[in-house]
Amino acid sequence: MTELASAQERSVVAYFSMEIAVDPSMPTYSGGLGVLAGDTLRSAADLSLPLVALTLAHRKGYFRQHLDANGIQTEETQPWDIESQLTAEKPTVTIVVEGRPVTIRAWRHDVIGVTGHTIPIYFLDTNLERNDPRDRILTDHLYGGDGDYRLRQEAVLGIGGARMLEALDYRPIVYHMNEGHAALLTIALLEKQLFGSPLDSADESTVEAVRRRCVFTTHTPVPAGHDRFSADQSNRILGPERTHTFERLGCFHDGLLNMTYIALRFARYVNGVAMQHGKVSRAMFPEYRIDAITNGVHAATWTSPAIQAAFDRHMPRWRQDNISLRYAIDIPEEEIEQAHRESKLALIEAVKERTGVQLRPEIFTIGFARRAATYKRCDLLFTEPERLVKMAHEHGGLQVIYSGKAHPADEPGKAKIRRVIELAKELDNADLTIVYLENYEWQLGALLTGGVDLWLNTPKRPYEASGTSGMKAALNGVPSLSILDGWWIEGWIEGVTGWAIADHDTDEGEAASLYEHLEQVILPLYYTDQNQWKRIMRSTIALNGSYFNTQRMIEQYILNAYFPEHRRDHSAAALEPILAQ
Ligand SMILES: *Cc1c(COP(=O)(O)O)cnc(C)c1O
Repeated sequence: MTELASAQERSVVAYFSMEIAVDPSMPTYSGGLGVLAGDTLRSAADLSLPLVALTLAHRKGYFRQHLDANGIQTEETQPWDIESQLTAEKPTVTIVVEGRPVTIRAWRHDVIGVTGHTIPIYFLDTNLERNDPRDRILTDHLYGGDGDYRLRQEAVLGIGGARMLEALDYRPIVYHMNEGHAALLTIALLEKQLFGSPLDSADESTVEAVRRRCVFTTHTPVPAGHDRFSADQSNRILGPERTHTFERLGCFHDGLLNMTYIALRFARYVNGVAMQHGKVSRAMFPEYRIDAITNGVHAATWTSPAIQAAFDRHMPRWRQDNISLRYAIDIPEEEIEQAHRESKLALIEAVKERTGVQLRPEIFTIGFARRAATYKRCDLLFTEPERLVKMAHEHGGLQVIYSGKAHPADEPGKAKIRRVIELAKELDNADLTIVYLENYEWQLGALLTGGVDLWLNTPKRPYEASGTSGMKAALNGVPSLSILDGWWIEGWIEGVTGWAIADHDTDEGEAASLYEHLEQVILPLYYTDQNQWKRIMRSTIALNGSYFNTQRMIEQYILNAYFPEHRRDHSAAALEPILAQ
């Protein structure tokens, strides 16, 4: 109890995210956004940052993907046992959604950092007997249901979450909205600021009081990706008073309530998730100041056991100090090569278990795993199938491992998966093996990014806000071949950390550049100059692993977003609240 009380006093940053990848056994995330949130919290715990996080329970989990022999995807819910995995909290809060009272309870999970510092995550849950059956299911499905369901969920996360923090005795001074899903927390703060006066009485100074406490990270590079709701939905679900206030304060866009505009309007600091994404966001929202803080990954979570052992031998404090990964430049090439071979064997074994296909460790292996959204172009590698077959034959063989889920409603994404699986069967021969692994999730992601020889990334520009799987690969000494979008613009040094696919207006043009790199540079290097290949693996770790991690990222949030005043005040007293355990 005393420990928790002090945790509450210390928690000055409240982090809200619709999804958080907390543990492989908890299906509470769908992909990149959730993994980033989890990695952020793991690094915040390592740095002893006084932070508390909120999300929804997602009792039915994100879906498990099944692929049949023809590549047809079917989905299954993944209910998980929150009662046995999380700690129940006493307080409840009640908010009004669609005119009905909805009571919310919370479950806690603690993230423990390398130094023992704890960050509590509260999972909000509406599955209480006293709630209307329509509301008991509100915290069941991540990104499930229709627009109404989503808006109700966002009310639970934003408004319910802000109220729950109070009920749990937290008094945060910074509220961080990880993507627009959490934007409704601002209306809860505005209502609190008014001490019971009607929302209509909110003026610029009330808004400013809320703005001073709010920070917003946008992750979406295209307007269609931002959550939007009709005025009717907003009136019905949030009520006319809140709807009118949002309208009056400029949070409607093209006649729709836009979560991104709410967050922009109410945040004193806004950032995109890579340099390029900052630029794209400024062009999309020219009336706002938008900074960039490039994403990262949690280094200890995303390095294979063999690579971790190599780091432990050479940079024993790398878990506390990710920058020391820069000194990987001093690890003998053979050690990195040996560690990577172990990771590759573990991956090959997993592929054999899951598919029956026996891959060969000496064959060059490409990995491609991500959400099967069409803009990611998982079939770009197959633009000229004969050329792929020919290069595999001429250079010594090629293995390609795919994985990725399509959102259940994304028919074009599902069609892409079918196409890759059809081609895999069609092209299979002694020199070329292509496998598609079903149900891409955390552990598979770790095996793949650790075990392949090259990480391939082919999004259509500028749709990739950041991308993080290539960062996981880099930490494991796996270079990328990627379109110059998202983080890769910053991480790319040709021939040192990987290779860039040249920009072109057409898919065919970009595919041609992809093939040229494989035929002329990458395959010859791998098969005929292993010494140079090992040096590339090593520089990939030293240059990109030491930078594209969530420890560096969260330090930038501290400097620029959470406590910008501490840039000037370096006294121990000023730093104490941030760094105190
Ligand atoms: C890292 C990761 C992602 C995000 O990868 P991107 O490169 O950003 O697409 C998605 N899903 C899983 C399971 C991951 O491990």
